[in-house]
Amino acid sequence: MIGSGQLARMSVGPAVELGLSLSVLATDPDDGGALAAAHAPVGHHADLDRVLEFARHCDVITFDHEHVPDEVLRAVEDLGVPMHPRPTALQFAQDKLAMRRRLGELAIPCPRWASARTVDDVREFGASVGWPIIAKTPRGGYDGKGVRLVSQPEDLADWFADGAEILLEEKVTFRRELAALVARSPSGQAAAWPVVETVQTDGICTEVLAPAPGLDPGLAAAVTEAALKIAGELDVTGVLAVELFEIGVDGPAGATTSFVVNELAMRPHNSGHWSMDGAVTGQFEQHLRAVLDLPLGDPRPRDRWTVMANVLGGDITELYSTYRHLLARDPALKVHLYGKAVRPGRKIGHVNVGGDDLDDLRERARHAADFIQGVIDE
Ligand code: ADP
Repeated sequence: MIGSGQLARMSVGPAVELGLSLSVLATDPDDGGALAAAHAPVGHHADLDRVLEFARHCDVITFDHEHVPDEVLRAVEDLGVPMHPRPTALQFAQDKLAMRRRLGELAIPCPRWASARTVDDVREFGASVGWPIIAKTPRGGYDGKGVRLVSQPEDLADWFADGAEILLEEKVTFRRELAALVARSPSGQAAAWPVVETVQTDGICTEVLAPAPGLDPGLAAAVTEAALKIAGELDVTGVLAVELFEIGVDGPAGATTSFVVNELAMRPHNSGHWSMDGAVTGQFEQHLRAVLDLPLGDPRPRDRWTVMANVLGGDITELYSTYRHLLARDPALKVHLYGKAVRPGRKIGHVNVGGDDLDDLRERARHAADFIQGVIDE
């Protein structure tokens, strides 16, 4: 696996259980994934020689992020080591402009969008869809970084300084954010987890509700169908997360709902962390099965509801000091910490809890995350 963050770390357990030897190309020997994996040589994912040396010792390559440069991906492919997802698919998770163009060809519902190189392009797009609009850097964004709300064309002048091409989107008025997670193997088998609701705070996902409460079954089916279509048409191998907005539509028959796709990730994803404890097959095991072209596991939920709450860095730096109280208070709680240095606002872990009473589960998950963060002390 190229990359040594929390996704690599959470892949280690399932790899051990399947008897696989998972090597991690570590950006830093202190990364959470590097500390967990038995074999974690150090090397940067943009260092061509280092990546090739790593790849020569692998039977199959996969990723914990989408930041490996194209020329490095091509060189690994030329080496003949199978790579999942393949660069031809991965480009649509790396580049939001390429993603919008491709999804348009597939007639997948998307926000109205345009590519811009100048302030005048921004003015024209804003005039046609209405202000404010959303601007995105096509590459390298995460957790809302690289996304800007733009109220007037001049707000984006700094982004064009070096001749960059920027993605512009209408600002969608959505009811809530959803995510559809599917896995697909090289031989074409696919499996879909239930569609979930993702709750964002200040551009960061803080909570996931699985399945999305009150989601219209017809919309759930349409969203799942779209995710499977994207996986198939783009030839995605491994886990694919499709982030979406649910929108309300007023029509003659009354209010209905519909969706537009926000973005894609081709790897295990924050919106699927609930599945580690809440589904028969969790996303990390499923990703490994998929990239090895093994039969996929059952994605069905174990509980009526599973709630995942992200733990963000806060006041407490020695997180294990919270365990005695937390684990005694709620024995059903599952805690996952990423072994990362604690910095304010950084995702450093998550908790999962499953059961029948959604409000109660949300309260317990939120309490646990707040307690680990140091927001509350009892
Ligand atoms: P990132 O790659 O950083 O996750 P996203 O494209 O997912 O960036 O955008 C981050 C957040 O910004 C989204 O979760 C959503 O809340 C908001 N957002 C993104 N695009 C739009 C849009 N077109 N309309 C309204 N809100 C948006």
